[in-house]
Amino acid sequence: EKTTNYVIGMDAEKNHGLKSLARQLKDKGYKIGIITSASIDHATPGGFYASQPDRFMYYEIGVDAANSGFDFFGGAGLLEPRSKRNLSAPCLYDLFNQKGYTMFRGMDAYNRAAAKDKILLFPTDTVSKSLKYAMDRSAKDLSLPDLTKACLANFQETAKKGFFMMVEGGKIDWAAHAHDGGAVVKETIDFDQCIRLAYDFYKKHPNETLILVTADHETGGLGLGNSDMNLNIDLLQYQKCSQEALTAAMREMKSGKMIPSWEDMKAFLKKNLGFWEQIKITPREELELLVCYEESFLKKKSKDVVSLYAKDEPLAVAAIALLDKKASLGWTTKTHTGAPVPLYAIGKQAVLYSGRRDNTDMANVLRKLFLIK
Ligand SMILES: [Zn+2]
Repeated sequence: EKTTNYVIGMDAEKNHGLKSLARQLKDKGYKIGIITSASIDHATPGGFYASQPDRFMYYEIGVDAANSGFDFFGGAGLLEPRSKRNLSAPCLYDLFNQKGYTMFRGMDAYNRAAAKDKILLFPTDTVSKSLKYAMDRSAKDLSLPDLTKACLANFQETAKKGFFMMVEGGKIDWAAHAHDGGAVVKETIDFDQCIRLAYDFYKKHPNETLILVTADHETGGLGLGNSDMNLNIDLLQYQKCSQEALTAAMREMKSGKMIPSWEDMKAFLKKNLGFWEQIKITPREELELLVCYEESFLKKKSKDVVSLYAKDEPLAVAAIALLDKKASLGWTTKTHTGAPVPLYAIGKQAVLYSGRRDNTDMANVLRKLFLIK
């Protein structure tokens, strides 16, 4: 059913809730897993269990999650565990607890407990609004493939009738909002690891599995090619961390007693982006970076660059923009676009998803398959 922007699981007039496919499958006895690299109360995961007039009502969306009875939630936790509007409303962690959920922080805690039913699996740190970017994380950080693997293993053991899993590579969108091309690529590869896990499952159960891979929209108007006919996307391999991590490091330098010299900054950009070493920087390009550095670090005049999920240091943004340009990437907008998105399908009745489809077909074709009205 078509509704409107910012609305979660309700009609466009915000009068009544809509029953999601996941809800209907839960009612038929299937186990339901909701996995994301954003928080579990974010708009996309929320679309599978919540009915709220505004996607930013994170507390209310969290209440709907606790009441959903869904079996496995994995992501970066909850954005508003205590209601900002109603101070006497219960803490969401208590509410989940009352509803029989057990919360685990990190894979070690989860694996030790050998948990079975009604699970929340979050990172060890309690403040992050999303999982770390794949390119910034260390081995101990919780990843989207970790969550996918844990949920899949759990359901293989516990689901009697079958299961439905939604896995969102949510930070592909976040990186695209910030025009961080290298991070978009690494997040997409990370998401691909999750698809591999599902695909291995499919190979073992080819007649009982359907995998659908798609997006709710494109973000950024990301284009391949911005000057000549060569695509230099391999240059992105020299980007060692996200624009967000560059920002954090530059802010730390800025707040220190010694402001880094331009030579120090060049060494930093060389180390993290391969500038001047693997990637040729022209004198004019260097001048532009230098002006940006002077405005931000010496005159302290420039303001953070704001996008939907980030406030970034101007020099970090300028450096990433230069790298993207050299890689031949182009961007048209800081927000979502109307570009058609791919839809890949394999497994049982995958043929029903061939061709160009309306977005509502994603659920409605499945409803037909499951004989749901
Ligand atoms: Zn977005």
